[in-house]
Amino acid sequence: MAVADYSRGVPKFQPSQLHDFVTQCCEAMGSLPREAGLVADQLVEANLAGHDSHGVGMLPSYVDGVVNGRLRINSHPTVVVDNGALVTFDGNAGFGQVNGFEAMQAATDRASEYGVAVVGLRNSYHIGRIGHWAEQCAASGYASLHLVNVIGHEPLVAAYGGAEARFGTNPFCAAVPGRNGRPGFMLDMATSIIAGGKARVAANKGVRVPPNTIIDVDGNLTDDPNAFWYTDPSGKRGGALVAFGDHKGSGLAIMCELLGAALLGGETAHPKNARDGRIINSMLSVVLDPGALGDAESYLDEIEQFRDFVLNSPLRSDCDRVLVPGQPEDLAREQRAEGFEVDPVTINQLRNSGQRAGMSEADVDLLLS
Ligand code: NAD
Repeated sequence: MAVADYSRGVPKFQPSQLHDFVTQCCEAMGSLPREAGLVADQLVEANLAGHDSHGVGMLPSYVDGVVNGRLRINSHPTVVVDNGALVTFDGNAGFGQVNGFEAMQAATDRASEYGVAVVGLRNSYHIGRIGHWAEQCAASGYASLHLVNVIGHEPLVAAYGGAEARFGTNPFCAAVPGRNGRPGFMLDMATSIIAGGKARVAANKGVRVPPNTIIDVDGNLTDDPNAFWYTDPSGKRGGALVAFGDHKGSGLAIMCELLGAALLGGETAHPKNARDGRIINSMLSVVLDPGALGDAESYLDEIEQFRDFVLNSPLRSDCDRVLVPGQPEDLAREQRAEGFEVDPVTINQLRNSGQRAGMSEADVDLLLS
């Protein structure tokens, strides 16, 4: 197995190069071209948005899922409830990139008919960066809210006051459409202070995470990402992520568990549900037509004036700028459009995964050099 040589520095990768790699890797596992393309679209777009934790670095865990029979390729969501503006899908542990895309297609179709759609997607394999789904809704002119839970593996995040993990990084996302088919504002966040993948990226890079974002196995707050990945000799994981905002963030994570999963017939993180190493998401999405609720044109003027008002805030003494939610991702897209670095550990994991998926060493080398 060839190992990447970084003696001359970490190389930049073109988005199209990584897109081709992910597509070919999925096709080598047996995915049809549409599925492979949807997976590649979401992973590369997460990197472009600055979220390496949900970018191409997720591919090795997908390959592992397929090879071990936990992630079903070429699967589609099946309808379990279809009642006007309400639809619930079962994702059948298929690719989240297909399940999310098809569930949001149904959501925007129903919102165009009813002005609102409430769509549940349960039991999907990892649906990745949730903002991707809000962007799909915004591209059709809709506002959306998404509450999500994560199960299938050991919990990662402690409840406020606790030292042991009790739930996943349960993301929450809300977006309102702007002009040009893009969100005007988009809040898309894990309910832990840092996403689990960010601890993985920090551990891969050998850097610390922000202070007090991790609880070590002894119940102490730390900035060491390795304390989160600690496993005792019996294989039991220790270490947990801290929920954002003390009891409030912990409470929102719990509501993601209940509204985002239990309410849809999905599973929550308690230990009677299987923990076999899968990454299973359930998501409740509420999709709203601004024109049906109020006045679509005056709404756009209103959010633009509000944006200017917020951005023109005088600065707090320890801060150098004000941004609105979604703006950091837009700035990352500008900076990364012509290529971005991928850390050496992640590249070597991608190389291994490519061959594990059935790609030839020559094809892996061609796309990842
Ligand atoms: P983050 O902390 O980088 O950003 C969270 C939000 O805050 C974003 O909307 C961003 O635009 C905004 N923001 C960031 N800095 C800002 C600033 N200075 N001023 C104003 N707004 C600012 O994101 P995160 O919590 O690390 O989450 C990363 C990604 O992980 C998200 O896309 C999330 O959907 C995804 N995620 C997915 C899962 C899953 O199971 N599928 C689980 C957890 C997280």
